[in-house]
Amino acid sequence: MASSTFDLETVSLIVANQDRVTDVTFPIQSPVKERIIHLCAAASVKDATHAADAAQAAFQAWAKTPASVRRGLFTRAADLLLAKQDLLATYQHEETGCSRGSARHTVGLAANLLRDVAGKISGVNGLMPQIEGGERAAMVLKVPYGVVLGFAPWNAPFILGARAIALPLAAGNTVVLKGSELSPKCFWALGDIFREAGFPAGCVNILYHRPSEASEVCSALITHRAVRMVNFTGSTLVGAIVASIAGQAVKPVVLELGGKAPCIVLDDADLEAAAAGCAVGAFTNAGQICMSTERIIVQRAVAEEFQRLLVQAAADRFGMEAGLLRLVSSAAVRKHEELISDAVGKGARVVLDHPTILSGVDKTMDLYYTESFSPIVSLHVVDTEEDALSLANDTEYGLAAALFTRDLARGLRVAGELESGAVHINQPTIFDDPNLPHGGFKSSGFGRFGGVHGLDQFLQTKSVTWLSRQSFGSGPLRSHD
Ligand code: NAD
Repeated sequence: MASSTFDLETVSLIVANQDRVTDVTFPIQSPVKERIIHLCAAASVKDATHAADAAQAAFQAWAKTPASVRRGLFTRAADLLLAKQDLLATYQHEETGCSRGSARHTVGLAANLLRDVAGKISGVNGLMPQIEGGERAAMVLKVPYGVVLGFAPWNAPFILGARAIALPLAAGNTVVLKGSELSPKCFWALGDIFREAGFPAGCVNILYHRPSEASEVCSALITHRAVRMVNFTGSTLVGAIVASIAGQAVKPVVLELGGKAPCIVLDDADLEAAAAGCAVGAFTNAGQICMSTERIIVQRAVAEEFQRLLVQAAADRFGMEAGLLRLVSSAAVRKHEELISDAVGKGARVVLDHPTILSGVDKTMDLYYTESFSPIVSLHVVDTEEDALSLANDTEYGLAAALFTRDLARGLRVAGELESGAVHINQPTIFDDPNLPHGGFKSSGFGRFGGVHGLDQFLQTKSVTWLSRQSFGSGPLRSHD
C-alpha cells in the first residue's frame, strides 16, 4: 500500500509482485463507515497489458515447478490467511458491510480451499488409452493453458478471489485476477498473501479499474494474446458480455453467474428446521450471496404454521436490531427498494418488513424473475409437489436449490427434478465445499470450480502418439494410400 497526497491510503495494483500505484485513482466508499475509506489505483489498458505480459513471462518456469514445491506454497498461503484472519475480516467488513463474524468465517473457508487445492496438485494424471495399430501407442497429457484471467466479485472476496486464483495456478497456469472495484483492498491483501507465501513474480497479478473503464480494460485483458482462458464470477448480464468477447477470440470460459435459488418446504418437513434454514438461506450477508434463497415454496397443508415459524426465525436472527442487513452500495439499496415497491404496488403483501418477506408475488412483478441480491424473499403457497417443482424451475437461473422433507427418498426424487447445479436436502441453499463441483445450470453459467475432478477445468489435454518400431512401410499408416 502507498500513501496518497490526500492522507488516504491508495490500494495498489500488484504486477509481477510489485505494488503499482497509477496516476489515476478512484475513491472507495465504506457502507459501514459511510465515508470514503481509501483510494484505489485504476488500471489502464496499458497496466492490464503489463499484467498479462508479466503472467506470460512467469508461465514456463511455473508450469515446470515440481508439485511438492507448489503444494508447499499453497499451504504457506493458507497459513498466512489464517494468521491474518482478523485483519482480512476487517477489510471485508469495512469495504462490503459484511459482519465481522461472517467475514472471518469466509477467510477461514478460503484457507480451507487453498489446503484442499494443495492436496490435489499431485493428483493430476494423464491417460494411456489403447489405440488402433499394433505397434502404435499413445498417451494423453494434461497441460496448463498458459495465462488464465479471472474476474471475482465483492460479495465474498476472499473465497471467490482465492478460487479464481488457486485452481488455475495449482494446475500450472499463471493468473491475472481482476478484482471488484467495490472491495479492492481485500483483493490486494489476497494477492499480497500469495506474494508473501513465496509465489514467484508474475504468477499472481491483481488489478482493478474505474467502473467507467470496465469495458475497455476487460476487453484488452480478454483479447490479450497470452490470455488463453477466462473465468468470470459475477452477474449473468456481465458474464454474457465477457463470454461473447472470449468467444470471438476463441478462448474457453468458466461462468459462475447469478441465481434465484428456490427452497421447497414439503408437507412432511420438520417445520422449525425448515424455517431456520430458509431464514439463514435468505438473509445471511443481507441476501448478497449467489446461492441466497430468493423464493420459498411451501405446501398449503403446512403453510400457515410454517409462515409463523419463518417470521419468528427471520425476526430473531436478522431483525432490525441485529444490524446484519447492510447493503454494499447506494445502487444496491435503490434496487432493493424498487423491487419491493414494484411488488407491493402490484398487490404483494408484506409478511415481515425487516428483513423483507413478501407473499402474493406473481409474474407481473419484477421480483418474480429478477435476482434481488438483497434481503427479500418471496413466499409462495402451492398444493402439490408437482406445483412446487414447476414454480421452482420457472426461472432462467439454476445455481442452487434446497428442499425440506422427513422422507429422504421423496427428497431425492424432488432433487432429481430440480434444474439446478446443486440441491441441498434439509439444509439451506447456501452450501459449498471444495470437493463439490460449484456451478450452475441454465443462465447461472457453465463450467465448474472444484469438485472431485479437481483441477481438470483448468487443464487442457494433449495426445502424444508414437511407433514402438520404425515400420512406416506397412500397417494402418498405408490405409490412406
Ligand atoms: P457484476 O457482474 O455486476 O460485476 C462484476 C464485474 O464486472 C465488476 O467488477 C465490473 O467492473 C465488471 N463489469 C461491468 N461491466 C462490464 C463490462 N461491460 N465488461 C467487462 N466487465 C464489466 O457482479 P457483482 O455485482 O460484482 O456481483 C454480484 C453478482 O455475482 C450476482 O449476480 C451474484 O449472483 C453473482 N455471483 C455469482 C457467484 C457464483 O459462484 N455463481 C458467486 C458470487 C456472486
